[in-house]
Amino acid sequence: MTESPLVKDLNSAQREAVAAPLGNQLVLAGAGSGKTRVLVHRIAWLMEQQSVSPHQVMAVTFTNKAAREMRERLTHLIGDRLGPRGVHSMWVGTFHGIAHRLLKAHWQEAGLSQNFQIMDSDDQLRLIKRIYQTLALDDSRWPVKQAQWYINNQKDEGLRPAHIDPGHDPFAQTMKLVYEAYEEACENAGLVDFAELLLRSHELWLKNKSLLDHYQRRFVAILVDEFQDTNSVQYAWLRVLAGHACAVTAVGDDDQSIYGWRGAKIENIQQFENDFAPVGVTRLEQNYRSTSTILSAANAVIENNFGRLGKNLWTDGGEGEHIDLFAGFNEQDEARYIVERVQDYLREDGSRARTDCAVLYRSNAQSRILEEAFLRENVPYRIYGGQRFYDRLEIKNALAYLRLISSRQDDAALERVINTPTRGIGAKTIESIRIFARDQGCSLYAAMQAALRNKVFSARAAGALNGFVALIDELEENVAQLTLGEAAELVLEKSGLVEFHRKEKGEKGQARVENLEELVNACRLFEPQDEEVTPLQEFLANAALDAGDGQADEFEDAVQMMTLHSAKGLEFPLVFLAGMEENLFPHKMSLDEPGRLEEERRLCYVGITRAMDKLVISYAESRRMHGNENFNAVSRFIREIPQNLVREVRIQSTVSRPASYSSSSATRQTEVDDFPDLKLGQSVLHPVFGEGTITQFEGRGAGAKVYVNFMREGGKWLALQYAKLEVV
Ligand code: ATP
Ligand code: MG
Repeated sequence: MTESPLVKDLNSAQREAVAAPLGNQLVLAGAGSGKTRVLVHRIAWLMEQQSVSPHQVMAVTFTNKAAREMRERLTHLIGDRLGPRGVHSMWVGTFHGIAHRLLKAHWQEAGLSQNFQIMDSDDQLRLIKRIYQTLALDDSRWPVKQAQWYINNQKDEGLRPAHIDPGHDPFAQTMKLVYEAYEEACENAGLVDFAELLLRSHELWLKNKSLLDHYQRRFVAILVDEFQDTNSVQYAWLRVLAGHACAVTAVGDDDQSIYGWRGAKIENIQQFENDFAPVGVTRLEQNYRSTSTILSAANAVIENNFGRLGKNLWTDGGEGEHIDLFAGFNEQDEARYIVERVQDYLREDGSRARTDCAVLYRSNAQSRILEEAFLRENVPYRIYGGQRFYDRLEIKNALAYLRLISSRQDDAALERVINTPTRGIGAKTIESIRIFARDQGCSLYAAMQAALRNKVFSARAAGALNGFVALIDELEENVAQLTLGEAAELVLEKSGLVEFHRKEKGEKGQARVENLEELVNACRLFEPQDEEVTPLQEFLANAALDAGDGQADEFEDAVQMMTLHSAKGLEFPLVFLAGMEENLFPHKMSLDEPGRLEEERRLCYVGITRAMDKLVISYAESRRMHGNENFNAVSRFIREIPQNLVREVRIQSTVSRPASYSSSSATRQTEVDDFPDLKLGQSVLHPVFGEGTITQFEGRGAGAKVYVNFMREGGKWLALQYAKLEVV
């Protein structure tokens, strides 16, 4: 084999995959085994050794951040030869990003308006609420969120309303109606949701053969990372595009499939072997990321799942340190501990960076307590996912102005800003515009102008509306002559948004103003790539797609905080898994369904395998959630890790604890002397709460308590002396 630098730092299985002849390939391997590395080297190899041009390659990544990293790594590997423009001309992005690019280029063929806008999940929910009003639907009977879920789900499965036969099921009948009305509203307003991007471009392939032909001839190789999390429509899209001639490399790990709840299909991996036959399958078994302790813990946890494709992951790295387990007596205590550990870690070795530390949690809501703890100690942190920069209220409002300037049809944007900041346009006026728009089948903006011409409003309302129309027109006129940064600045100032937040009391207003300033910065630094659209349009599309990766303080050295879902594909020397409690993780929504519980376990596997050198797991014995004090049992995933890999951490002094507190009591005590029949895992019957399973003991003698997870009532602490539990 040629000793190209492209294969020099690879093991033999990796080399085989990288240097394989052009053809379909599946790389199926566990976490940290170099799948993403193989994918990047494969692209470089194709260009260098097979004379494939960057123009002929498409790489699908899971996040925009991953796409950027991939470009950087390619530039590093072969950039000299291709020049920076070379790597840039390659299509790298998420399924959504690539579908969007296609629709932008072929909006006419796809039946879209030229300035169609991407609608995020908030806008989508608002739109469905409006449809509920029109259809006079009862939200308490058919929750709006459920309708949103339904619509997205149908689209992910590739289904339009016409494909759905609701039979006599009232739920399905109602949802179909909502879906139909929703489609019409999106069509009229020129709005496209995330799932629509894929579905629409898939339909475009099917109905426009010459276009499909063009792209099929263009792409010689398509490579997909994190293949286990593709959904039905993504898979169908890929299959059609690839046709018979294109070489597809799919890279994935069935144990890391964590988006089942959003329609991802693990089965696509097996399906791939059939549909894309012949497929060369490579398995990578050596893990290069983690210590053997961390890897053994991950393997032990995931072994509890059934129906895995099965793999053997090993490392010749050292054993490393124990996994630390910390029990906080409440969530504050837990957060304080994590911050202290980060500080100790940085103090121990001056060459370490904050970005080496990641705190991972199951739900976004958990971040606030942790954030406060970091803030108190002045440790910079950065959140990926959750309240991300482009998700913040003031940013969305600012973008809505820009969107409206760019397309008057954008109803969602108009709804957002027509009276923000307040300019005396009341709810009644807005409602009458909506009704008018509905009757006329036109955009809200057009309805507003028509209603103004017909003089249907009171003088006051008409004055306010005229002011708004004049503002948007004036802005559009000016923006056309300015750079993007200047345009953003002008819009923020003239719209009154900056002033509005400046007047807000307290730090929140201040933070909002700072965020708006940061948005102007982002506009200034924005480098347009796409010559077919204006820089503003490109910026807006990126902001909508990018929510999640686009934080302004990206380059500051900060502790990384994110949900487990967002941590996919990443790695960090020091990882904290926080809030490892039943009901939190595994999430309580998953406890009744074996399938979902297994998905939670895969998420835990993802979490553990992010750690390179050191893993710290923590939980809180009591936690305030939704205003109540909860006593959750220790997560079952902790119990699935072999004891010999774990070291319980005790803190002697720094924080005051309740007198009875002992960090080990909750995890180690497996029985109570006076009740020899009761053991961890034992099924019991309670006269009131019914059947449950013992998951914890605490204390001895008269003070002994037992924690039972009841099938009906959830988890409860009971005093053993009075509980009257029967063994079943
Ligand atoms: P995940 O499943 O988490 O996405 P992955 O299989 O994609 O993981 P990579 O991120 O590609 O794994 O690789 C994990 C780490 O191991 C990276 O730091 C990578 O640089 C390193 N690595 C991979 N292969 C080798 C190798 N042959 N020699 C040295 N380091 C390697
Ligand atoms: Mg990877």
